[in-house]
Amino acid sequence: MTALINLLDLDPAQLVAYCGELGEKPFRAKQLQRWIHQFGADDFDAMTDLAKSLRDKLKGRATIAAPAIISDHTSADGTRKWLVDVGAGNAVETVYIPEDNRGTLCISTQAGCAVNCRFCSTGKQGFNRNLSVAEIIGQLWMAEFELRRTHGIEPGPKGERQITNVVMMGMGEPLLNFEPTVTALKLMLDDNAYGLSRRRVTLSTSGVVPMIDKLSQECPVALAVSLHASNDGLRDSLVPLNKKHPLADLMAACRRYLEFAPRDFITFEYCMLDGVNDTDQHARELIALVKTGPQPVSCKFNLIPFNPFPESGLLRSKNPRIKEFAQILADAGIVTTVRKTRGDDIDAACGQLAGDVQDRTRVAQRMEKMAEYQKKFGPDFGRIVEVGS
Ligand code: SAH
Ligand code: SF4
Repeated sequence: MTALINLLDLDPAQLVAYCGELGEKPFRAKQLQRWIHQFGADDFDAMTDLAKSLRDKLKGRATIAAPAIISDHTSADGTRKWLVDVGAGNAVETVYIPEDNRGTLCISTQAGCAVNCRFCSTGKQGFNRNLSVAEIIGQLWMAEFELRRTHGIEPGPKGERQITNVVMMGMGEPLLNFEPTVTALKLMLDDNAYGLSRRRVTLSTSGVVPMIDKLSQECPVALAVSLHASNDGLRDSLVPLNKKHPLADLMAACRRYLEFAPRDFITFEYCMLDGVNDTDQHARELIALVKTGPQPVSCKFNLIPFNPFPESGLLRSKNPRIKEFAQILADAGIVTTVRKTRGDDIDAACGQLAGDVQDRTRVAQRMEKMAEYQKKFGPDFGRIVEVGS
């Protein structure tokens, strides 16, 4: 018997081709896709407007299988984190962040990460493997319909959509798992699936220059670039990929991307590390970096208060320092925000996504660790207020 094909692995064009192989017309693929991605169906028998003969054919050949949920925690601020099983002892994390007018889902693209940034706990666990399309889009599928069940909202286009924005900022470097990431992006944008606009889907990269260009041609969603340093020497030590793709090349790639981007700016993420990258001089270097060259790079800065973890040996910049740093950028006309840290009581904040299988169920211990962090870094740990706009 041949293995069942997982329909979550197929983008819209591939689903049409698959239906073609079964002797079905393209509109059947659309119906099927709506059942899967708009109604959250995983049972062919529930797809009542498909002919019984087609349902039977599908039952013998196909399946709709998202990765299984290992754990599901909701933080005091409403942030919800799922740990999902991606096989062979690997788990990745998916985080839902509710805000007043939107719900953002932060998804993972790899189990672990090979880039090994100094301040990132995902990097510290090394690279395990790339996620498949079904495992990437399956996180959105799972989260959207889990949230609807929790909130008593009916599936289908009539029910209020829970996830309005997606950020690829979980575990892994999306541009080093390019094809499955782009296939998943296409499903997010497709009107017969999630129908999100390109502006509401953001891919975050540590700066894989050739793949930034490729993304601009294949699926130009909003782009965030993890900068973290204002000169090559410093960035080499924080983001090792910089040795291969130094800042001048990265800035040039950003300028090229802007011609295709859905927004007229790139978001630069900058993790604030006490005494490492947070001086006035660093801020001035950043301004020079984005303003010099053939033309300035149209950008916004998002300063991320570092979420410490013991092995890193690094500390979070103090709040007043972060505000002063933000002010220098803002005074130079660069829109700058400080990211509010959310969900850190359940280890769901940026860079805390370790997907550690050993750590799956130890919520009590995590809470203890959090209390320890708060003792060490102050009671306002994770409670930084957004400044600027
Ligand atoms: N690999 C991609 C996307 C995942 S990381 C990238 O690096 O862009 C998402 C964001 O979280 C990045 O900007 C990353 O630098 C940041 N991050 C990683 N570790 C962090 C930590 N300990 N504290 C705060 N932000 C962190
Ligand atoms: Fe990988 Fe991003 Fe973490 Fe760097 S910050 S190790 S690129 S996940």
